[in-house]
Parts: sequence; C-alpha cells; structure tokens
Amino acid sequence: MNEMPYVDKQGRVHKYGEFFPIEFSLFAYNETVAGDYFPLTKEEAEKLGYVWRDAEPREYQTTMDANDLPDRIGDATEVVLKEVIRCLSCKRAYRIILSEFNFLKAQSIPLPRICSNCRYLRRFSFRNKPKYYERKCQCAGNFSERKTYQNRTAHFHRSEHCSNEFVTSYAPERPEVIYCEVCYQAEAQ
Ligand SMILES: [Zn+2]
Ligand SMILES: [Zn+2]
Ligand SMILES: [Zn+2]
Repeated sequence: MNEMPYVDKQGRVHKYGEFFPIEFSLFAYNETVAGDYFPLTKEEAEKLGYVWRDAEPREYQTTMDANDLPDRIGDATEVVLKEVIRCLSCKRAYRIILSEFNFLKAQSIPLPRICSNCRYLRRFSFRNKPKYYERKCQCAGNFSERKTYQNRTAHFHRSEHCSNEFVTSYAPERPEVIYCEVCYQAEAQ
C-alpha cells in the first residue's frame, strides 16, 4: 500500500494506516450529522471530496393543514391517521402513524404541527455544538457573578470567588450561569 497508494479524485494520496478515502463513503455529507454540526454548501463539500445527494423533490398532495389539527389530543380521533398533513414550518407533507398516535394519547401530548424533520432540527438547535471553552467558575461567593443567581447553601470557598477552572461547551457570551462541578452540586442537591 505504501508502494502503490490509492490516489483519490482530489489527487490526495492514501497510504497504509490512513483513514479510508472519503469518496468511498456510502453516505452523503448532507445526509449525516456531520452536515448538521459542520454545515457546508454543496460546492464546498464536493470540493473536499465528500459525496453529496440532493433530496428528491417529493410533491405529495396534502389533505389537511397542520393548523386544523385539534389542540387537545383528547379531541383527536384515528381519522387523522389517513390525513397527509401540511407542516406549519416547511410546508411539506407528513403523517401520523398508529404507534405514534397511541403514544401521544397515552402520554396526553398534542399532535405535532410540524413534521419529524423540522422537529429534529428544532431539538438539534437546543444542543450545544462540539466546541469547547476554557472558563472560570462564575460562583462569586453567595451570588453568581452578575448576581442573577443567589446560592442556597454555603460553598467550600465561603464568601470568596470560586477559583475553579474547567472546559465547557457553554460559550462565554452565553447568558447561562456556569458553575464548576462542586458549586453546581452544592446547589443542585
Ligand atoms: Zn417541516
Ligand atoms: Zn465553583
Ligand atoms: Zn461556589
């Protein structure tokens, strides 16, 4: 392999012990979570040698608008399983399946008005990105630094500012109060 290395379409040489050339991947960049965490345009991805797959245009005829779904799950009947619903957000079609319907009924959760893809993106937006920051504990004695949080217990550092440092996925410009593990556990017990 070192004498006859694989040369990919980008002209990059792959020798023994290296990762498989990305052009052999069965998955398209834009169809994996890599594209969620590190978004690239089609041109950028293809330039780097990633596979890209354009979504097939699927034009389903919708039979009802998500706005017309009942507010309360108690008012929903299995008739909704036959509907092709128009997503409030992306306007594309989605359906409710029986097991989902039964689960929502059992848990008293209303029918979703956005499609599963939009729901996934919404949940994803709550997740911290895999980027890490070196930060100091914001516990400043009896209060957090900007006094937005008052401690309920006495901490090991007493009325002094806590000196603990750590690595966190919460960026410094974010509004959340970030405590070190010891201060957090003193408050969360
Ligand atoms: Zn949608
Ligand atoms: Zn601390
Ligand atoms: Zn503290």
